Amino acid sequence: MTYTISVIPGDGIGPEVVEAARRCIEATGVDICWEEVLAGQIALDKFGSLLPEETLASIRKNKVCLKGPITTPVGSGFRSVNVAIRQELDLYACLRPAKSYIGVRSHYQNIDLVIVRENSEDLYAGVEFKEGEPDTERLIKEINKLSKKKIRSDSGISIKPISRFATERIVNFAFRYALENKRHKVTVVTKANIMKFTDGLFLAVAREVAKKYDGKIEFEEALVDNMAMQLVQKPNQYDVLVLPNLYGDIISDLCAGLIGGLGVAPGANLGDQIAVFEAVHGSAPKYAGKNKVNPTAMIASGIMMLRYLKENEAANRLEEALQAVIKEGIFVTYDLKPHRDDTTAVGTSQMADAIISRLKK
Ligand code: NAD
Repeated sequence: MTYTISVIPGDGIGPEVVEAARRCIEATGVDICWEEVLAGQIALDKFGSLLPEETLASIRKNKVCLKGPITTPVGSGFRSVNVAIRQELDLYACLRPAKSYIGVRSHYQNIDLVIVRENSEDLYAGVEFKEGEPDTERLIKEINKLSKKKIRSDSGISIKPISRFATERIVNFAFRYALENKRHKVTVVTKANIMKFTDGLFLAVAREVAKKYDGKIEFEEALVDNMAMQLVQKPNQYDVLVLPNLYGDIISDLCAGLIGGLGVAPGANLGDQIAVFEAVHGSAPKYAGKNKVNPTAMIASGIMMLRYLKENEAANRLEEALQAVIKEGIFVTYDLKPHRDDTTAVGTSQMADAIISRLKK
Protein backbone atom coordinates (compact mmCIF):
# COMPACT_ATOMS: atom_id res chain seq x y z
CA MET A 1 0.00 0.00 0.00
CA THR A 2 1.22 3.51 -0.83
CA TYR A 3 0.46 6.28 1.64
CA THR A 4 0.26 9.85 0.39
CA ILE A 5 1.45 12.06 3.23
CA SER A 6 1.73 15.85 3.39
CA VAL A 7 5.10 17.11 4.54
CA ILE A 8 5.91 20.64 5.73
CA PRO A 9 9.65 21.34 5.99
CA GLY A 10 9.08 24.38 8.25
CA ASP A 11 11.48 27.15 9.28
CA GLY A 12 14.95 27.25 10.83
CA ILE A 13 16.21 23.72 11.52
CA GLY A 14 12.90 22.30 10.20
CA PRO A 15 14.05 21.33 6.69
CA GLU A 16 17.12 19.49 8.05
CA VAL A 17 15.32 17.43 10.68
CA VAL A 18 12.34 16.72 8.43
CA GLU A 19 14.66 15.50 5.66
CA ALA A 20 16.45 13.22 8.16
CA ALA A 21 13.12 11.81 9.40
CA ARG A 22 11.83 11.35 5.86
CA ARG A 23 14.90 9.34 4.86
CA CYS A 24 14.67 7.13 7.97
CA ILE A 25 10.95 6.48 7.42
CA GLU A 26 11.53 5.62 3.75
CA ALA A 27 14.34 3.25 4.72
CA THR A 28 11.85 1.08 6.66
CA GLY A 29 10.39 0.09 3.29
CA VAL A 30 6.94 1.57 3.99
CA ASP A 31 5.81 3.02 0.67
CA ILE A 32 5.17 6.73 1.04
CA CYS A 33 4.46 9.35 -1.58
CA TRP A 34 5.36 12.67 0.09
CA GLU A 35 3.34 15.71 -0.94
CA GLU A 36 5.50 18.68 0.04
CA VAL A 37 3.57 21.81 1.03
CA LEU A 38 4.74 25.01 2.65
CA ALA A 39 3.93 26.99 5.77
CA GLY A 40 5.81 29.68 7.68
CA GLN A 41 8.35 32.19 6.39
CA ILE A 42 9.11 30.30 3.16
CA ALA A 43 5.37 30.19 2.32
CA LEU A 44 5.09 33.91 3.04
CA ASP A 45 8.02 34.67 0.71
CA LYS A 46 6.69 32.42 -2.07
CA PHE A 47 2.90 32.75 -1.87
CA GLY A 48 2.37 35.81 0.32
CA SER A 49 0.67 33.71 3.01
CA LEU A 50 2.09 32.06 6.13
CA LEU A 51 -0.44 29.26 5.87
CA PRO A 52 -1.61 28.89 2.25
CA GLU A 53 -5.02 27.32 1.68
CA GLU A 54 -3.38 24.64 -0.51
CA THR A 55 -1.31 23.50 2.48
CA LEU A 56 -4.43 23.00 4.58
CA ALA A 57 -6.19 21.38 1.60
CA SER A 58 -3.32 18.89 1.18
CA ILE A 59 -3.47 17.87 4.86
CA ARG A 60 -7.29 17.63 4.75
CA LYS A 61 -7.01 15.36 1.70
CA ASN A 62 -4.15 13.14 2.88
CA LYS A 63 -5.25 13.13 6.55
CA VAL A 64 -1.65 12.64 7.73
CA CYS A 65 1.19 15.17 7.80
CA LEU A 66 4.79 15.28 8.98
CA LYS A 67 5.58 18.84 9.99
CA GLY A 68 8.75 20.76 10.76
CA PRO A 69 8.74 23.58 13.35
CA ILE A 70 7.61 27.06 12.33
CA THR A 71 8.95 30.32 13.77
CA THR A 72 6.61 32.64 15.69
CA PRO A 73 7.89 36.06 16.73
CA VAL A 74 7.57 36.70 20.49
CA GLY A 75 5.10 39.32 21.72
CA SER A 76 4.24 40.99 18.44
CA GLY A 77 4.00 40.23 14.73
CA PHE A 78 1.92 37.40 13.27
CA ARG A 79 0.04 34.80 15.26
CA SER A 80 1.47 31.29 15.56
CA VAL A 81 1.09 29.26 12.37
CA ASN A 82 1.42 26.14 14.53
CA VAL A 83 -1.61 27.13 16.60
CA ALA A 84 -3.50 28.10 13.40
CA ILE A 85 -2.89 24.63 11.85
CA ARG A 86 -4.19 22.93 15.01
CA GLN A 87 -7.28 25.15 15.10
CA GLU A 88 -8.05 25.04 11.35
CA LEU A 89 -7.88 21.24 11.27
CA ASP A 90 -9.45 20.74 14.71
CA LEU A 91 -6.44 18.79 15.96
CA TYR A 92 -7.74 18.92 19.50
CA ALA A 93 -5.32 16.49 21.14
CA CYS A 94 -1.62 17.09 21.48
CA LEU A 95 0.10 13.86 22.42
CA ARG A 96 3.65 14.12 23.75
CA PRO A 97 5.26 10.97 25.09
CA ALA A 98 8.36 11.49 27.24
CA LYS A 99 10.34 8.27 27.30
CA SER A 100 14.00 7.85 28.33
CA TYR A 101 16.43 6.50 25.74
CA ILE A 102 19.48 4.68 27.11
CA GLY A 103 22.52 6.79 26.23
CA VAL A 104 20.84 10.20 26.49
CA ARG A 105 22.37 12.12 29.37
CA SER A 106 19.76 13.20 31.88
CA HIS A 107 19.40 13.51 35.64
CA TYR A 108 16.65 10.90 35.34
CA GLN A 109 16.37 7.34 34.05
CA ASN A 110 13.40 5.18 33.11
CA ILE A 111 11.03 8.07 32.51
CA ASP A 112 7.88 6.92 30.73
CA LEU A 113 5.24 9.65 30.81
CA VAL A 114 2.61 10.70 28.31
CA ILE A 115 1.32 14.26 28.12
CA VAL A 116 -2.14 14.79 26.63
CA ARG A 117 -2.61 18.51 26.08
CA GLU A 118 -5.90 20.11 25.04
CA ASN A 119 -5.07 21.94 21.84
CA SER A 120 -8.06 24.06 20.88
CA GLU A 121 -8.92 26.52 23.63
CA ASP A 122 -7.71 28.04 26.92
CA LEU A 123 -5.38 31.05 26.69
CA TYR A 124 -4.20 29.80 23.28
CA ALA A 125 -7.64 30.29 21.71
CA GLY A 126 -6.31 33.53 20.22
CA VAL A 127 -9.08 35.73 21.65
CA GLU A 128 -6.98 38.73 22.60
CA PHE A 129 -7.49 42.45 23.00
CA LYS A 130 -4.58 44.84 22.57
CA GLU A 131 -3.89 47.51 25.17
CA GLY A 132 -5.28 50.94 24.24
CA GLU A 133 -7.56 49.86 21.37
CA PRO A 134 -11.22 51.01 21.39
CA ASP A 135 -12.59 47.43 21.59
CA THR A 136 -10.33 46.72 24.56
CA GLU A 137 -11.52 49.85 26.34
CA ARG A 138 -15.17 48.86 25.70
CA LEU A 139 -14.50 45.35 26.96
CA ILE A 140 -12.79 46.62 30.11
CA LYS A 141 -15.68 48.98 30.85
CA GLU A 142 -18.19 46.14 30.38
CA ILE A 143 -16.20 43.77 32.61
CA ASN A 144 -15.83 46.45 35.26
CA LYS A 145 -19.64 46.85 35.24
CA LEU A 146 -20.23 43.09 35.55
CA SER A 147 -17.44 42.07 37.93
CA LYS A 148 -16.60 43.11 41.47
CA LYS A 149 -12.92 42.92 40.55
CA LYS A 150 -11.71 45.86 38.46
CA ILE A 151 -9.35 45.73 35.48
CA ARG A 152 -6.96 48.65 34.92
CA SER A 153 -7.80 50.71 31.83
CA ASP A 154 -4.28 50.29 30.39
CA SER A 155 -4.49 46.49 30.28
CA GLY A 156 -4.16 44.04 27.44
CA ILE A 157 -6.53 41.07 27.69
CA SER A 158 -6.25 37.41 26.69
CA ILE A 159 -9.41 35.37 27.12
CA LYS A 160 -9.27 31.88 28.64
CA PRO A 161 -12.24 29.88 27.38
CA ILE A 162 -12.60 26.31 28.64
CA SER A 163 -15.69 24.44 27.51
CA ARG A 164 -17.45 21.32 28.71
CA PHE A 165 -17.39 20.00 25.10
CA ALA A 166 -13.62 20.33 24.56
CA THR A 167 -12.83 19.04 28.05
CA GLU A 168 -14.98 15.93 27.65
CA ARG A 169 -13.34 15.32 24.29
CA ILE A 170 -9.75 15.58 25.58
CA VAL A 171 -10.29 13.67 28.82
CA ASN A 172 -12.00 10.86 26.91
CA PHE A 173 -9.04 10.88 24.53
CA ALA A 174 -6.62 10.53 27.46
CA PHE A 175 -8.55 7.61 28.98
CA ARG A 176 -8.97 5.87 25.60
CA TYR A 177 -5.24 6.31 24.97
CA ALA A 178 -4.48 4.87 28.42
CA LEU A 179 -6.67 1.83 27.77
CA GLU A 180 -5.39 1.18 24.25
CA ASN A 181 -1.76 1.55 25.30
CA LYS A 182 -1.99 -0.45 28.53
CA ARG A 183 -1.27 2.49 30.81
CA HIS A 184 -2.61 2.39 34.35
CA LYS A 185 -3.34 5.94 35.50
CA VAL A 186 -4.61 9.30 34.20
CA THR A 187 -3.82 12.43 36.23
CA VAL A 188 -5.79 15.59 35.48
CA VAL A 189 -3.71 18.72 36.06
CA THR A 190 -5.33 22.13 36.65
CA LYS A 191 -5.29 25.21 38.84
CA ALA A 192 -8.90 24.63 39.82
CA ASN A 193 -8.42 26.10 43.29
CA ILE A 194 -7.87 29.57 41.76
CA MET A 195 -9.66 29.59 38.38
CA LYS A 196 -12.89 27.99 39.49
CA PHE A 197 -14.99 28.59 36.37
CA THR A 198 -12.39 27.49 33.79
CA ASP A 199 -9.93 25.06 35.39
CA GLY A 200 -12.69 24.20 37.88
CA LEU A 201 -14.93 23.19 34.96
CA PHE A 202 -12.08 21.18 33.39
CA LEU A 203 -11.68 19.27 36.66
CA ALA A 204 -15.41 18.74 37.22
CA VAL A 205 -15.85 17.37 33.69
CA ALA A 206 -12.74 15.19 34.07
CA ARG A 207 -14.22 13.68 37.24
CA GLU A 208 -17.45 12.86 35.36
CA VAL A 209 -15.58 11.29 32.43
CA ALA A 210 -13.31 9.31 34.80
CA LYS A 211 -16.37 7.51 36.24
CA LYS A 212 -16.81 5.71 32.90
CA TYR A 213 -13.37 4.18 33.26
CA ASP A 214 -13.68 3.33 36.94
CA GLY A 215 -12.06 -0.03 37.68
CA LYS A 216 -10.15 0.04 34.40
CA ILE A 217 -7.87 3.09 34.71
CA GLU A 218 -6.93 4.86 37.92
CA PHE A 219 -7.83 8.56 38.10
CA GLU A 220 -5.97 11.22 40.05
CA GLU A 221 -6.08 15.03 40.41
CA ALA A 222 -3.19 17.47 40.78
CA LEU A 223 -2.55 21.21 40.83
CA VAL A 224 -0.17 22.39 38.14
CA ASP A 225 2.31 24.18 40.42
CA ASN A 226 2.59 21.14 42.66
CA MET A 227 2.80 18.89 39.59
CA ALA A 228 5.83 20.86 38.32
CA MET A 229 7.61 20.10 41.59
CA GLN A 230 6.43 16.48 41.80
CA LEU A 231 7.64 15.79 38.25
CA VAL A 232 11.11 17.03 39.18
CA GLN A 233 11.17 15.04 42.43
CA LYS A 234 9.22 11.85 41.66
CA PRO A 235 8.44 11.61 37.94
CA ASN A 236 7.99 7.84 38.11
CA GLN A 237 4.80 8.29 40.14
CA TYR A 238 2.96 9.48 37.05
CA ASP A 239 1.75 7.85 33.86
CA VAL A 240 -0.66 9.76 31.56
CA LEU A 241 -1.24 13.46 32.33
CA VAL A 242 -4.16 15.38 30.82
CA LEU A 243 -4.00 19.18 30.90
CA PRO A 244 -5.55 22.34 29.46
CA ASN A 245 -3.57 23.95 26.65
CA LEU A 246 -1.16 26.33 28.44
CA TYR A 247 -0.17 23.98 31.28
CA GLY A 248 0.19 21.18 28.73
CA ASP A 249 2.64 23.26 26.72
CA ILE A 250 4.77 24.12 29.74
CA ILE A 251 4.66 20.71 31.42
CA SER A 252 5.55 18.93 28.17
CA ASP A 253 8.73 21.04 27.89
CA LEU A 254 9.48 20.15 31.52
CA CYS A 255 9.02 16.47 30.64
CA ALA A 256 11.28 16.92 27.58
CA GLY A 257 13.88 18.15 30.10
CA LEU A 258 13.44 14.97 32.17
CA ILE A 259 14.35 12.79 29.19
CA GLY A 260 17.38 14.81 28.09
CA GLY A 261 16.07 17.86 26.25
CA LEU A 262 14.10 19.06 23.27
CA GLY A 263 16.31 17.18 20.82
CA VAL A 264 14.66 13.89 21.78
CA ALA A 265 11.01 14.81 22.48
CA PRO A 266 8.43 13.81 19.83
CA GLY A 267 4.78 14.76 19.44
CA ALA A 268 1.56 14.52 17.50
CA ASN A 269 -1.49 16.73 17.04
CA LEU A 270 -4.54 14.58 16.54
CA GLY A 271 -8.15 15.16 15.53
CA ASP A 272 -10.87 12.61 14.83
CA GLN A 273 -9.81 12.28 11.18
CA ILE A 274 -6.48 14.10 10.76
CA ALA A 275 -3.05 13.75 12.37
CA VAL A 276 -0.02 16.05 12.19
CA PHE A 277 3.24 14.74 13.60
CA GLU A 278 5.86 17.21 14.84
CA ALA A 279 8.66 17.43 17.39
CA VAL A 280 8.11 19.35 20.64
CA HIS A 281 11.03 21.64 19.77
CA GLY A 282 10.84 24.83 17.73
CA SER A 283 12.81 26.12 14.76
CA ALA A 284 16.00 26.88 16.79
CA PRO A 285 16.97 29.65 14.31
CA LYS A 286 20.57 29.95 15.53
CA TYR A 287 21.29 26.40 14.30
CA ALA A 288 19.46 26.73 10.96
CA GLY A 289 21.33 25.35 7.96
CA LYS A 290 24.26 24.10 10.07
CA ASN A 291 23.51 20.35 9.89
CA LYS A 292 24.10 20.29 13.63
CA VAL A 293 20.91 19.61 15.60
CA ASN A 294 19.54 16.30 16.77
CA PRO A 295 17.06 14.65 14.38
CA THR A 296 15.80 12.23 17.10
CA ALA A 297 12.68 14.22 18.08
CA MET A 298 11.55 14.42 14.46
CA ILE A 299 12.41 10.78 13.72
CA ALA A 300 10.56 9.69 16.87
CA SER A 301 7.57 11.77 15.69
CA GLY A 302 7.85 9.80 12.42
CA ILE A 303 7.77 6.56 14.46
CA MET A 304 4.54 7.77 16.08
CA MET A 305 3.25 8.43 12.56
CA LEU A 306 4.10 4.88 11.43
CA ARG A 307 2.22 3.50 14.46
CA TYR A 308 -0.76 5.74 13.62
CA LEU A 309 -0.70 4.19 10.12
CA LYS A 310 -0.65 0.76 11.84
CA GLU A 311 2.80 0.09 10.37
CA ASN A 312 3.88 -1.22 13.77
CA GLU A 313 6.55 -3.58 12.56
CA ALA A 314 8.31 -0.80 10.60
CA ALA A 315 7.90 1.55 13.57
CA ASN A 316 9.48 -0.99 15.93
CA ARG A 317 12.43 -1.57 13.57
CA LEU A 318 13.07 2.15 13.20
CA GLU A 319 12.81 2.67 16.97
CA GLU A 320 15.29 -0.15 17.59
CA ALA A 321 17.76 1.37 15.10
CA LEU A 322 17.35 4.82 16.65
CA GLN A 323 17.83 3.42 20.17
CA ALA A 324 20.90 1.44 19.07
CA VAL A 325 22.60 4.50 17.56
CA ILE A 326 21.85 6.63 20.64
CA LYS A 327 23.01 3.88 23.04
CA GLU A 328 26.25 3.42 21.09
CA GLY A 329 26.85 7.18 21.31
CA ILE A 330 29.25 7.39 18.36
CA PHE A 331 27.29 8.70 15.39
CA VAL A 332 25.27 11.18 17.41
CA THR A 333 24.86 14.96 17.39
CA TYR A 334 26.64 17.31 19.81
CA ASP A 335 23.82 17.35 22.37
CA LEU A 336 24.12 13.58 22.90
CA LYS A 337 27.88 13.70 23.53
CA PRO A 338 29.34 14.07 27.05
CA HIS A 339 30.50 17.59 26.17
CA ARG A 340 28.77 19.99 23.79
CA ASP A 341 32.03 20.86 22.02
CA ASP A 342 32.96 17.20 21.44
CA THR A 343 34.69 17.15 18.06
CA THR A 344 33.51 13.57 17.36
CA ALA A 345 29.86 14.69 17.18
CA VAL A 346 28.27 14.10 13.78
CA GLY A 347 25.76 16.22 11.90
CA THR A 348 21.99 15.80 11.60
CA SER A 349 22.24 14.05 8.29
CA GLN A 350 25.09 11.72 9.36
CA MET A 351 23.14 10.62 12.43
CA ALA A 352 20.24 9.77 10.11
CA ASP A 353 22.67 7.77 7.90
CA ALA A 354 23.83 5.80 10.95
CA ILE A 355 20.22 5.00 11.91
CA ILE A 356 19.43 3.89 8.36
CA SER A 357 22.47 1.62 8.27
CA ARG A 358 21.33 -0.03 11.53
CA LEU A 359 17.81 -0.64 10.24
CA LYS A 360 17.03 -4.32 9.91
CA LYS A 361 15.18 -4.99 6.67
P1 NAD B 1 13.49 25.92 20.18
O1 NAD B 1 12.88 24.61 20.57
O2 NAD B 1 13.46 26.26 18.75
O3 NAD B 1 15.02 25.94 20.64
C1 NAD B 1 15.48 26.17 21.95
C2 NAD B 1 16.82 25.49 22.12
O4 NAD B 1 16.61 24.10 22.28
C3 NAD B 1 17.75 25.62 20.94
O5 NAD B 1 18.49 26.80 20.95
C4 NAD B 1 18.61 24.39 21.11
O6 NAD B 1 19.62 24.64 22.08
C5 NAD B 1 17.65 23.38 21.67
N1 NAD B 1 17.09 22.54 20.62
C6 NAD B 1 15.91 22.65 19.99
N2 NAD B 1 15.76 21.69 19.08
C7 NAD B 1 16.88 20.95 19.12
C8 NAD B 1 17.32 19.81 18.41
N3 NAD B 1 16.58 19.21 17.46
N4 NAD B 1 18.55 19.32 18.70
C9 NAD B 1 19.32 19.87 19.64
N5 NAD B 1 18.94 20.95 20.35
C10 NAD B 1 17.74 21.48 20.10
O7 NAD B 1 12.76 27.03 21.06
P2 NAD B 1 12.77 28.61 20.91
O8 NAD B 1 14.15 29.10 20.64
O9 NAD B 1 12.01 29.08 22.08
O10 NAD B 1 11.85 28.88 19.66
C11 NAD B 1 12.35 29.17 18.35
C12 NAD B 1 11.16 29.38 17.43
O11 NAD B 1 10.42 28.16 17.26
C13 NAD B 1 10.15 30.41 17.96
O12 NAD B 1 9.75 31.22 16.91
C14 NAD B 1 9.01 29.56 18.47
O13 NAD B 1 7.79 30.23 18.43
C15 NAD B 1 9.05 28.42 17.48
N6 NAD B 1 8.41 27.18 18.00
C16 NAD B 1 7.74 26.43 17.09
C17 NAD B 1 7.18 25.25 17.48
C18 NAD B 1 6.44 24.44 16.46
O14 NAD B 1 6.60 24.67 15.28
N7 NAD B 1 5.62 23.50 16.85
C19 NAD B 1 7.33 24.78 18.79
C20 NAD B 1 8.07 25.55 19.68
C21 NAD B 1 8.61 26.75 19.27
